[in-house]
Amino acid sequence: SASSPVEDCLFCRIVAGEVPAEVVHRGDTTLAFRDVNPQAPTHVLVVPQAHHADAAALAQDDPATLARLVDAAREVAAAEGLDDGYRLVFNTGAQAGQTVFHVHLHLLGGRDLGWPPG
Ligand code: 5GP
Ligand code: ZN
Repeated sequence: SASSPVEDCLFCRIVAGEVPAEVVHRGDTTLAFRDVNPQAPTHVLVVPQAHHADAAALAQDDPATLARLVDAAREVAAAEGLDDGYRLVFNTGAQAGQTVFHVHLHLLGGRDLGWPPG
């Protein structure tokens, strides 16, 4: 099913502990870890533990977990002291820059973030 670990999915492997990551939050259905190539002082990826390709698929298959990603990001942002704000991004599809097809919410903060993002 869509929720079983997917072989060769990098983020399924991180969830399973098969690939190391700096985990900053673990919920019942969510996991948050630092991006290996951070684009801001705080750059954390929040993922469902179950495999879903992108945010649109997660919204259709398990909207409660989609909401939990945002709530986990709020908790991490508070722990990181991002009191002046932060950005949440779902890159959805290759043209938007999605490279890992296990949905992940980017949490970015700790510097002024430009808009539009380019
Ligand atoms: P995307 O481009 O799909 O929106 O975001 C994928 C993100 O995953 C990128 O920001 C990239 O730096 C990050 N990433 C890629 N490989 C790894 C890894 O092995 N560990 C961690 N922690 N992040 C990774
Ligand atoms: Zn996966």
